[in-house]
Amino acid sequence: VKAVACEGLVLREWHETPVLQELTIAPPGPGEVRVRMRAAGLCHTDLAAVRDARSTPMVLGHEGAGTVESVGAGVTDLEPGTPVLLCWKAPCGACPKCNAGRPSLCEQVLDVAEPRVFWRDRPIARILNTGCFSEFVVLPARCVVPFDETLPFEQVALVGCAVATGVGAVLRTARVEAGAKVAVWGAGGVGLNVVLGARLAHAATIVAVDPDPERRDLALKRGATHAVGPAEALHCVEDTTLGRGLDYAFETVGDPEVMAEALSGLGVGGRLVIVGAAARDATMHFRPRAFMSNQQSITGCIYGSIYPHSDLPLFTEWLREGTLPLEDLIGTRLTLADLPSVFESPSPGGVRPVVSFA
Ligand SMILES: [Zn+2]
Ligand SMILES: [Zn+2]
Repeated sequence: VKAVACEGLVLREWHETPVLQELTIAPPGPGEVRVRMRAAGLCHTDLAAVRDARSTPMVLGHEGAGTVESVGAGVTDLEPGTPVLLCWKAPCGACPKCNAGRPSLCEQVLDVAEPRVFWRDRPIARILNTGCFSEFVVLPARCVVPFDETLPFEQVALVGCAVATGVGAVLRTARVEAGAKVAVWGAGGVGLNVVLGARLAHAATIVAVDPDPERRDLALKRGATHAVGPAEALHCVEDTTLGRGLDYAFETVGDPEVMAEALSGLGVGGRLVIVGAAARDATMHFRPRAFMSNQQSITGCIYGSIYPHSDLPLFTEWLREGTLPLEDLIGTRLTLADLPSVFESPSPGGVRPVVSFA
Protein backbone atom coordinates (compact mmCIF):
# COMPACT_ATOMS: atom_id res chain seq x y z
CA VAL A 1 0.00 0.00 0.00
CA LYS A 2 1.39 3.38 -1.05
CA ALA A 3 0.72 7.01 -0.18
CA VAL A 4 -1.86 8.65 -2.45
CA ALA A 5 -2.15 12.24 -3.62
CA CYS A 6 -5.63 13.74 -3.66
CA GLU A 7 -7.60 16.95 -3.31
CA GLY A 8 -8.93 18.17 0.01
CA LEU A 9 -10.55 21.30 1.41
CA VAL A 10 -8.01 23.20 3.50
CA LEU A 11 -8.65 26.10 5.87
CA ARG A 12 -5.24 27.76 5.60
CA GLU A 13 -5.87 30.65 8.03
CA TRP A 14 -8.73 31.76 10.27
CA HIS A 15 -11.23 34.06 8.52
CA GLU A 16 -10.08 32.95 5.06
CA THR A 17 -12.19 30.99 2.59
CA PRO A 18 -11.04 27.35 2.60
CA VAL A 19 -9.59 26.20 -0.71
CA LEU A 20 -8.92 22.91 -2.48
CA GLN A 21 -5.32 21.84 -2.07
CA GLU A 22 -3.32 18.75 -2.95
CA LEU A 23 -2.87 16.47 0.05
CA THR A 24 -0.77 13.37 0.50
CA ILE A 25 -2.49 10.57 2.38
CA ALA A 26 -0.18 7.96 3.91
CA PRO A 27 -1.07 4.27 4.04
CA PRO A 28 -3.05 3.16 7.11
CA GLY A 29 -0.97 2.15 10.14
CA PRO A 30 -1.64 -0.92 12.30
CA GLY A 31 -5.29 -1.02 13.34
CA GLU A 32 -6.19 1.71 10.83
CA VAL A 33 -8.05 1.89 7.53
CA ARG A 34 -7.88 4.18 4.53
CA VAL A 35 -11.31 5.12 3.20
CA ARG A 36 -12.17 6.38 -0.28
CA MET A 37 -14.86 8.99 0.35
CA ARG A 38 -18.19 8.74 -1.48
CA ALA A 39 -20.33 11.37 0.27
CA ALA A 40 -19.84 14.01 2.97
CA GLY A 41 -22.35 16.36 4.59
CA LEU A 42 -21.62 20.02 5.25
CA CYS A 43 -22.26 20.55 8.98
CA HIS A 44 -22.44 23.89 10.78
CA THR A 45 -19.26 22.97 12.65
CA ASP A 46 -17.29 23.05 9.37
CA LEU A 47 -18.66 26.49 8.53
CA ALA A 48 -17.94 27.78 12.04
CA ALA A 49 -14.36 26.48 11.85
CA VAL A 50 -13.48 29.44 9.65
CA ARG A 51 -13.69 31.62 12.78
CA ASP A 52 -13.10 29.17 15.62
CA ALA A 53 -11.03 26.20 14.42
CA ARG A 54 -8.69 25.01 17.16
CA SER A 55 -5.73 25.36 14.83
CA THR A 56 -4.84 26.13 11.23
CA PRO A 57 -4.08 24.87 8.66
CA MET A 58 -6.81 22.25 8.89
CA VAL A 59 -8.63 19.86 6.55
CA LEU A 60 -12.42 20.31 6.98
CA GLY A 61 -15.28 17.79 6.78
CA HIS A 62 -16.32 15.33 9.52
CA GLU A 63 -19.64 13.74 8.45
CA GLY A 64 -19.21 11.16 5.72
CA ALA A 65 -19.38 7.71 4.20
CA GLY A 66 -17.17 5.84 1.77
CA THR A 67 -15.61 2.48 1.04
CA VAL A 68 -12.58 0.92 2.68
CA GLU A 69 -9.67 1.26 0.23
CA SER A 70 -6.93 -0.46 2.23
CA VAL A 71 -6.42 -1.80 5.74
CA GLY A 72 -3.45 -1.68 8.10
CA ALA A 73 -1.86 -4.60 9.93
CA GLY A 74 -4.13 -6.39 12.34
CA VAL A 75 -7.41 -5.23 10.83
CA THR A 76 -9.34 -8.42 10.24
CA ASP A 77 -12.99 -7.36 10.31
CA LEU A 78 -12.91 -4.91 7.38
CA GLU A 79 -11.75 -5.41 3.82
CA PRO A 80 -11.31 -3.23 0.73
CA GLY A 81 -14.70 -2.41 -0.76
CA THR A 82 -16.66 -2.50 2.51
CA PRO A 83 -19.03 0.51 2.75
CA VAL A 84 -18.46 2.40 6.00
CA LEU A 85 -19.66 5.53 7.72
CA LEU A 86 -17.26 7.74 9.65
CA CYS A 87 -17.50 8.34 13.40
CA TRP A 88 -15.56 11.31 14.77
CA LYS A 89 -15.90 10.41 18.43
CA ALA A 90 -15.19 6.77 19.14
CA PRO A 91 -14.32 6.02 22.79
CA CYS A 92 -10.81 4.79 23.60
CA GLY A 93 -12.05 2.01 25.87
CA ALA A 94 -9.15 2.52 28.32
CA CYS A 95 -9.45 5.90 30.11
CA PRO A 96 -11.03 6.29 33.58
CA LYS A 97 -14.40 7.35 32.11
CA CYS A 98 -14.47 4.42 29.67
CA ASN A 99 -13.46 2.08 32.49
CA ALA A 100 -16.28 3.47 34.61
CA GLY A 101 -18.77 2.46 31.91
CA ARG A 102 -19.32 5.99 30.63
CA PRO A 103 -17.69 5.91 27.17
CA SER A 104 -19.56 8.98 25.95
CA LEU A 105 -17.42 10.97 28.41
CA CYS A 106 -14.19 9.44 27.01
CA GLU A 107 -11.19 11.62 27.80
CA GLN A 108 -9.12 10.52 24.81
CA VAL A 109 -11.22 9.72 21.75
CA LEU A 110 -9.56 7.48 19.18
CA ASP A 111 -7.24 8.94 16.58
CA VAL A 112 -4.56 7.65 14.23
CA ALA A 113 -1.24 6.73 15.88
CA GLU A 114 0.77 9.14 13.72
CA PRO A 115 -0.03 11.89 11.22
CA ARG A 116 -1.29 10.36 7.95
CA VAL A 117 -2.30 13.52 6.08
CA PHE A 118 0.30 15.93 4.72
CA TRP A 119 0.05 19.32 3.05
CA ARG A 120 3.14 20.84 1.51
CA ASP A 121 5.11 17.94 3.07
CA ARG A 122 4.00 18.76 6.61
CA PRO A 123 1.37 17.03 8.78
CA ILE A 124 -1.92 18.91 8.78
CA ALA A 125 -4.71 18.94 11.40
CA ARG A 126 -8.12 17.45 10.50
CA ILE A 127 -11.32 18.83 11.96
CA LEU A 128 -12.67 16.52 14.70
CA ASN A 129 -9.89 14.02 13.85
CA THR A 130 -11.56 13.38 10.49
CA GLY A 131 -11.08 15.84 7.60
CA CYS A 132 -13.31 14.07 5.09
CA PHE A 133 -13.70 16.87 2.52
CA SER A 134 -10.86 14.93 0.94
CA GLU A 135 -10.93 12.04 -1.50
CA PHE A 136 -9.24 9.79 1.08
CA VAL A 137 -9.09 9.69 4.87
CA VAL A 138 -7.17 7.45 7.28
CA LEU A 139 -8.90 6.57 10.54
CA PRO A 140 -8.61 3.96 13.29
CA ALA A 141 -10.66 0.93 12.22
CA ARG A 142 -12.80 1.52 15.35
CA CYS A 143 -13.82 4.92 13.89
CA VAL A 144 -15.62 3.41 10.89
CA VAL A 145 -18.86 1.47 10.96
CA PRO A 146 -19.85 -0.93 8.13
CA PHE A 147 -23.34 -0.65 6.70
CA ASP A 148 -25.67 -2.45 4.31
CA GLU A 149 -24.39 -1.80 0.77
CA THR A 150 -27.90 -1.11 -0.55
CA LEU A 151 -28.14 2.14 1.45
CA PRO A 152 -27.34 5.44 -0.32
CA PHE A 153 -23.97 6.87 0.76
CA GLU A 154 -25.28 10.43 0.91
CA GLN A 155 -27.93 9.48 3.48
CA VAL A 156 -25.65 7.27 5.55
CA ALA A 157 -23.10 10.10 5.68
CA LEU A 158 -25.57 12.10 7.80
CA VAL A 159 -25.81 9.32 10.37
CA GLY A 160 -22.21 10.06 11.43
CA CYS A 161 -22.98 13.55 12.79
CA ALA A 162 -26.48 15.01 12.35
CA VAL A 163 -28.32 11.82 13.30
CA ALA A 164 -25.86 10.75 15.98
CA THR A 165 -26.11 14.19 17.57
CA GLY A 166 -29.85 14.85 17.19
CA VAL A 167 -31.35 11.41 17.80
CA GLY A 168 -28.67 10.72 20.41
CA ALA A 169 -29.43 13.94 22.31
CA VAL A 170 -32.98 12.70 22.86
CA LEU A 171 -32.50 8.96 23.37
CA ARG A 172 -29.09 8.89 25.07
CA THR A 173 -28.24 12.30 26.59
CA ALA A 174 -31.71 13.22 27.87
CA ARG A 175 -33.36 9.77 27.85
CA VAL A 176 -36.70 11.37 27.09
CA GLU A 177 -39.55 9.24 28.44
CA ALA A 178 -42.87 8.44 26.74
CA GLY A 179 -45.41 11.20 27.28
CA ALA A 180 -42.82 13.94 27.81
CA LYS A 181 -43.30 17.53 26.63
CA VAL A 182 -40.40 18.50 24.39
CA ALA A 183 -39.37 21.52 22.35
CA VAL A 184 -36.42 22.02 20.07
CA TRP A 185 -35.02 25.38 19.03
CA GLY A 186 -33.54 25.15 15.51
CA ALA A 187 -34.84 22.74 12.86
CA GLY A 188 -31.66 22.18 10.80
CA GLY A 189 -29.83 18.89 10.27
CA VAL A 190 -29.49 18.29 14.01
CA GLY A 191 -32.80 19.84 15.16
CA LEU A 192 -34.87 17.80 12.71
CA ASN A 193 -33.20 14.68 14.09
CA VAL A 194 -34.09 15.82 17.62
CA VAL A 195 -37.71 15.95 16.41
CA LEU A 196 -37.43 12.43 15.06
CA GLY A 197 -35.76 11.17 18.24
CA ALA A 198 -38.57 12.70 20.31
CA ARG A 199 -41.14 10.93 18.15
CA LEU A 200 -39.26 7.63 18.53
CA ALA A 201 -39.31 8.22 22.31
CA HIS A 202 -43.10 8.74 22.11
CA ALA A 203 -42.95 12.28 23.47
CA ALA A 204 -46.50 13.62 23.78
CA THR A 205 -45.71 17.18 22.71
CA ILE A 206 -42.96 18.11 20.25
CA VAL A 207 -42.65 21.82 19.48
CA ALA A 208 -40.17 22.76 16.73
CA VAL A 209 -38.99 26.37 16.59
CA ASP A 210 -37.42 27.77 13.42
CA PRO A 211 -37.73 30.97 11.40
CA ASP A 212 -37.75 29.04 8.08
CA PRO A 213 -41.25 27.86 6.99
CA GLU A 214 -39.81 25.00 4.89
CA ARG A 215 -37.96 23.63 7.89
CA ARG A 216 -41.10 23.98 10.01
CA ASP A 217 -42.96 21.89 7.39
CA LEU A 218 -40.22 19.26 7.52
CA ALA A 219 -40.46 19.22 11.31
CA LEU A 220 -44.20 18.53 11.12
CA LYS A 221 -43.58 15.73 8.58
CA ARG A 222 -41.04 14.20 10.96
CA GLY A 223 -43.43 14.11 13.88
CA ALA A 224 -43.48 17.56 15.50
CA THR A 225 -46.89 18.31 16.99
CA HIS A 226 -46.34 22.06 16.58
CA ALA A 227 -43.94 24.13 14.47
CA VAL A 228 -43.63 27.87 15.06
CA GLY A 229 -41.37 30.83 14.41
CA PRO A 230 -39.10 32.13 17.20
CA ALA A 231 -41.49 34.95 18.15
CA GLU A 232 -44.30 32.45 18.90
CA ALA A 233 -42.16 29.86 20.67
CA LEU A 234 -42.81 30.61 24.34
CA HIS A 235 -46.47 31.35 23.73
CA CYS A 236 -46.86 27.99 21.98
CA VAL A 237 -45.06 26.20 24.83
CA GLU A 238 -47.27 27.91 27.40
CA ASP A 239 -50.40 26.95 25.43
CA THR A 240 -49.55 23.33 24.66
CA THR A 241 -48.30 22.54 28.17
CA LEU A 242 -51.28 24.29 29.82
CA GLY A 243 -48.84 26.60 31.56
CA ARG A 244 -46.79 23.81 33.14
CA GLY A 245 -43.75 24.22 30.89
CA LEU A 246 -41.52 21.73 29.13
CA ASP A 247 -39.90 18.57 30.44
CA TYR A 248 -37.09 18.91 27.90
CA ALA A 249 -35.81 21.79 25.79
CA PHE A 250 -33.13 21.20 23.15
CA GLU A 251 -31.09 24.12 21.84
CA THR A 252 -29.42 23.33 18.51
CA VAL A 253 -28.68 26.87 17.36
CA GLY A 254 -25.62 27.70 19.45
CA ASP A 255 -26.95 31.12 20.52
CA PRO A 256 -26.85 31.95 24.27
CA GLU A 257 -29.98 34.12 23.98
CA VAL A 258 -31.88 31.22 22.43
CA MET A 259 -30.54 28.96 25.21
CA ALA A 260 -31.87 31.39 27.83
CA GLU A 261 -35.25 31.45 26.10
CA ALA A 262 -35.37 27.65 25.92
CA LEU A 263 -34.50 27.55 29.62
CA SER A 264 -37.37 29.88 30.43
CA GLY A 265 -39.78 27.47 28.70
CA LEU A 266 -38.98 24.67 31.19
CA GLY A 267 -41.42 23.49 33.84
CA VAL A 268 -40.73 21.98 37.25
CA GLY A 269 -37.94 19.41 36.92
CA GLY A 270 -37.31 20.49 33.33
CA ARG A 271 -34.00 20.02 31.59
CA LEU A 272 -32.26 22.15 28.99
CA VAL A 273 -29.94 20.19 26.71
CA ILE A 274 -27.36 22.38 25.00
CA VAL A 275 -26.59 20.78 21.64
CA GLY A 276 -25.66 23.87 19.62
CA ALA A 277 -22.08 25.12 19.72
CA ALA A 278 -21.87 28.72 20.91
CA ALA A 279 -18.85 30.91 20.16
CA ARG A 280 -15.96 29.96 22.43
CA ASP A 281 -16.15 33.21 24.44
CA ALA A 282 -19.96 33.49 24.62
CA THR A 283 -21.71 33.74 28.00
CA MET A 284 -25.29 32.98 29.05
CA HIS A 285 -27.45 34.73 31.65
CA PHE A 286 -30.31 33.19 33.62
CA ARG A 287 -32.07 33.57 36.96
CA PRO A 288 -30.69 30.90 39.31
CA ARG A 289 -33.44 31.41 41.92
CA ALA A 290 -36.31 30.06 39.79
CA PHE A 291 -33.94 27.43 38.37
CA MET A 292 -33.19 26.22 41.91
CA SER A 293 -36.77 26.33 43.13
CA ASN A 294 -37.99 24.44 40.07
CA GLN A 295 -35.25 21.80 40.36
CA GLN A 296 -34.16 22.22 36.78
CA SER A 297 -30.95 21.21 35.04
CA ILE A 298 -28.78 22.16 32.09
CA THR A 299 -26.81 19.47 30.30
CA GLY A 300 -24.09 19.83 27.68
CA CYS A 301 -24.31 17.32 24.86
CA ILE A 302 -21.57 16.21 22.49
CA TYR A 303 -22.25 13.63 19.76
CA GLY A 304 -25.58 12.75 21.40
CA SER A 305 -23.79 10.86 24.19
CA ILE A 306 -24.16 7.79 21.94
CA TYR A 307 -22.34 4.48 22.14
CA PRO A 308 -21.01 4.58 18.58
CA HIS A 309 -20.30 0.87 18.21
CA SER A 310 -23.85 -0.14 18.99
CA ASP A 311 -25.84 3.01 18.20
CA LEU A 312 -24.49 3.80 14.72
CA PRO A 313 -25.39 0.29 13.43
CA LEU A 314 -28.78 0.72 15.11
CA PHE A 315 -29.39 4.06 13.39
CA THR A 316 -28.37 2.69 9.96
CA GLU A 317 -30.71 -0.25 10.53
CA TRP A 318 -33.50 2.25 11.27
CA LEU A 319 -32.58 4.03 8.04
CA ARG A 320 -32.83 0.73 6.13
CA GLU A 321 -36.22 -0.18 7.56
CA GLY A 322 -37.68 3.34 7.14
CA THR A 323 -37.93 4.33 10.80
CA LEU A 324 -35.32 7.03 10.28
CA PRO A 325 -36.05 8.87 7.02
CA LEU A 326 -33.17 11.03 5.80
CA GLU A 327 -33.93 11.65 2.13
CA ASP A 328 -35.81 14.87 2.88
CA LEU A 329 -32.80 16.30 4.73
CA ILE A 330 -30.49 16.08 1.72
CA GLY A 331 -30.14 19.57 0.29
CA THR A 332 -28.04 20.85 -2.58
CA ARG A 333 -25.72 18.26 -4.07
CA LEU A 334 -22.19 19.58 -4.38
CA THR A 335 -18.79 18.54 -5.62
CA LEU A 336 -15.58 19.23 -3.72
CA ALA A 337 -14.88 22.04 -6.19
CA ASP A 338 -18.15 23.77 -5.19
CA LEU A 339 -17.23 24.01 -1.51
CA PRO A 340 -15.13 27.21 -1.47
CA SER A 341 -17.98 29.23 -2.96
CA VAL A 342 -20.45 27.69 -0.48
CA PHE A 343 -18.20 28.79 2.39
CA GLU A 344 -18.18 32.32 0.95
CA SER A 345 -21.97 32.61 0.91
CA PRO A 346 -23.44 29.68 2.85
CA SER A 347 -27.04 29.50 1.60
CA PRO A 348 -26.95 26.53 -0.77
CA GLY A 349 -30.56 25.49 -0.14
CA GLY A 350 -32.09 22.52 1.65
CA VAL A 351 -31.28 21.32 5.12
CA ARG A 352 -27.99 19.53 4.53
CA PRO A 353 -25.78 20.21 1.51
CA VAL A 354 -23.95 16.99 0.60
CA VAL A 355 -20.74 16.57 -1.35
CA SER A 356 -20.64 13.62 -3.74
CA PHE A 357 -17.23 12.30 -4.73
CA ALA A 358 -16.59 11.20 -8.30
ZN1 LIG B 1 -21.21 17.91 12.58
ZN1 LIG C 1 -11.88 6.60 26.94
